[in-house]
Amino acid sequence: MTEKTKTGSENWRPSTTLVHGGTMRSPFGETSEALYLTQGFVYGNAEAAEARFNGEDPGYVYSRYANPTVSMFEDRLKALEGAEAARGTASGMAAVNLALMAAVKAGDHVIAAKALFGSCRYICETLLPRFGVESTLVDGTDIAQWKAAVRPNTRALFLESPTNPTLEVIDIAAVADIAKEAGARLIVDNVFATPMYQSPLQLGADVVVYSATKHIDGQGRCLGGVVLSDEEWITEEVMPFVKHTGPHMSPFSAWVLLKGLETLPIRVARQSESAAQIADFLAGKPKVKQLIYPGRDDHPQAEVAKRQMRGGSTMLAIEIEGGKEAAFRFTNALEIVRISNNLGDAKSLITHPATTTHQSIGEEARAELGITDGILRLSVGLEDPQDLLEDVEKALAAV
Ligand SMILES: *Cc1c(COP(=O)(O)O)cnc(C)c1O
Repeated sequence: MTEKTKTGSENWRPSTTLVHGGTMRSPFGETSEALYLTQGFVYGNAEAAEARFNGEDPGYVYSRYANPTVSMFEDRLKALEGAEAARGTASGMAAVNLALMAAVKAGDHVIAAKALFGSCRYICETLLPRFGVESTLVDGTDIAQWKAAVRPNTRALFLESPTNPTLEVIDIAAVADIAKEAGARLIVDNVFATPMYQSPLQLGADVVVYSATKHIDGQGRCLGGVVLSDEEWITEEVMPFVKHTGPHMSPFSAWVLLKGLETLPIRVARQSESAAQIADFLAGKPKVKQLIYPGRDDHPQAEVAKRQMRGGSTMLAIEIEGGKEAAFRFTNALEIVRISNNLGDAKSLITHPATTTHQSIGEEARAELGITDGILRLSVGLEDPQDLLEDVEKALAAV
């Protein structure tokens, strides 16, 4: 039997929680987290099996339901986020789908901000309506639009902030008030802010979801996700969905992600510092039409960002003067920054949303979201900031 030695203390600050929180040690007393690669669990006798299945004994039954390595990942994030309960999932999209599916049924209505990660938008716009759940997309920064979209059957509000790829910042507390009044659940996709810089539950949200694939892994190794909320909802609605449909996290991924959590604070701090330096360097340059960085005073929602975020971001959006051709020239001239659609990675990555991540939504939807042909999304990594600045400077000269 494994003994839970320490799950975390409320007095621990985030960095301590991220190193020690949720750790369970086997009788061998291993220093690092054990990787329990097992589908199932054996019982000492028939009575023990019966007790496990009827819930009298809270031990493990089957890894689709729960697994000790995954539990450690869930408990560590739960402690960090200040949530009552958490469920790890196979990917960020599995987490988003799980949170929405657990919140609605046929006949219900969902409101979501337009500026969503492509697949999240697909779930709200295309998938949910197929099952009798209507959805309304609003401009997330316009609180009046959220209010006007509420219907008697509205059961979930969904947003991400900062948004992908234009880094709009949505007032989470204001949307949470609308959700409360409507008797709906506010679900926040907190991927871009990371748990280091934004705590949606403390701002009034009911559910937080992450793609752990991004900053939590932080080294581009595996996919993962997590849903965090109150104990009752996770037990009553989220758990049965996971148990019976199987979007659970693999123990191996949980083990990789636990390692990522240990270094999350220093990675996010360093990457954001470098991102801020690059943003300051690019702002106001003649070939840069627009520079969007949540940590700068010229950000369109700078006041909201200051109120609800504890730091800038590892991400910036750059609009190069001269449209697609100029943006491609800039991208192709970079030597250290690689072209990839991942983000939050140790390696700096750049993407041209209009031709990649946001190609399929069409020109009209892109225009509505401010995703012009000159916009690039830069995820700043852990390289020496001076090397990154020189790389960006050289690329700008090539435009
Ligand atoms: C990447 C991402 C997702 C999806 O996560 P996966 O792990 O790729 O499934 C969802 N939301 C946001 C904001 C993301 O950046």
